Amino acid sequence: MIRRVAIEKVAPRAAEIDAAGTYPQDMFDLLQELGLFTLPFPAEYGGSDSMLSSCVAVEELCRVCYNTAYLLIVQWVPFGAILAGGNPTQQAKYLPGLANGDLRAAISTTEAQSGSDVAGIRTKAERVDGGYRLNGAKIWCTNSSVADFVLIAAKIVEEGQAVTEAKRGAINLFIVERDTPGFTVGPAESKMGARGVPSCPLFLDDAFIPEENRLGEEGLGFKIVMEAFNKSRPIIGARGVGLAQGAMDLSIDFVKQRAAFGQQVSNFQGVRWMIADMAIQTEAARSLVYRAAAMVDDGITGQELAQAAAIAKAQATDTAMTVATDAVQLFGAAGISNDYPINRYFRDAKVLQIVEGTNQIQRNIIANNLIGRS
Ligand SMILES: Cc1cc2nc3c(=O)[nH]c(=O)nc-3n(C[C@H](O)[C@H](O)[C@H](O)COP(=O)(O)OP(=O)(O)OC[C@H]3O[C@@H](n4cnc5c(N)ncnc54)[C@H](O)[C@@H]3O)c2cc1C
Repeated sequence: MIRRVAIEKVAPRAAEIDAAGTYPQDMFDLLQELGLFTLPFPAEYGGSDSMLSSCVAVEELCRVCYNTAYLLIVQWVPFGAILAGGNPTQQAKYLPGLANGDLRAAISTTEAQSGSDVAGIRTKAERVDGGYRLNGAKIWCTNSSVADFVLIAAKIVEEGQAVTEAKRGAINLFIVERDTPGFTVGPAESKMGARGVPSCPLFLDDAFIPEENRLGEEGLGFKIVMEAFNKSRPIIGARGVGLAQGAMDLSIDFVKQRAAFGQQVSNFQGVRWMIADMAIQTEAARSLVYRAAAMVDDGITGQELAQAAAIAKAQATDTAMTVATDAVQLFGAAGISNDYPINRYFRDAKVLQIVEGTNQIQRNIIANNLIGRS
């Protein structure tokens, strides 16, 4: 069903969404109508409780439109965070709306001076009567311009303390609702890829957040949520698989219709081997992603899952970049032209190697698991 919708309804919009660089409300409405926002989650929220199904859905959408696939993921990440770290009241308040698409959310850890190094954030949450006062600035918060609330990472300190005095590991996520006084969303970044879902800076200026909007116990909430992200990491790999598959599909169509030296470009052995290599790499990445997803569905957690998920994310997104680069090469000058779809795959693939933990960070996770921390 998703493949049919992807081909019939999503693919025709993909180039326009990328070129305009604006939020595709029509694609959001389509996904909402199909009831896909709850797919990975338990049946009580209308989901299939299947990470493998979710990966297949993301793969099929990303094969034709990165941005539409992204709409699922920006809905799923805050959902997973509240499911893992939220209390029953928070879950009852936010999860049904995220499941049916009546609510939208975003998650924000990155700051100007610290992206990979989350422990280096400087946004602080001073403990005050009844809650916390948040001050700081964030960057690159995707979906925040349309979000009803944002999960914002901050370090908890006592009133009047500097953020440098925060206890080690004292990071929590706070549910910051859109209309909170002192909270503003800045103008969207101008991006090379992932252009359809805006990423914006956030500003917190004495924003009061009530105690009931803290996710998880003080000092523990963030860790729980980060562990939950291991479970959703196969989905990020699935985006890479879909993107690679889509770039390969387009390459095959192109080389079959393009002629040079009196014959089809697809007759040249050098070209045929490039297509074969695309297939080998994409299939290998798909197997790793499906394996990590199946491990989640089997209830495997901890280091074993973290390792498989990091390997799948790094391999699938590196594959997306390699395949998309070769695809542009096979298109020749048409690969550079914005009249052809292929350079969109190339630009979006680069984003995948950087987001949700860069591929260097994935390699750190993998190496640390194998040989211990350096
Ligand atoms: C399109 C897009 C959407 C995004 N959406 C969000 C969002 O919704 N919410 C959010 O919070 N953030 C978001 N981000 C930010 C993203 O998570 C960060 O860009 C990412 O974590 C990397 O951080 P950085 O850019 O500060 O790079 P840095 O951490 O400064 O890293 C710079 C380079 O050094 C490498 N590096 C850093 N540390 C190590 C190390 N220990 N070992 C080896 N290499 C290392 C990195 O891999 C990278 O190549 C988004 C980014 C993009 C591009």
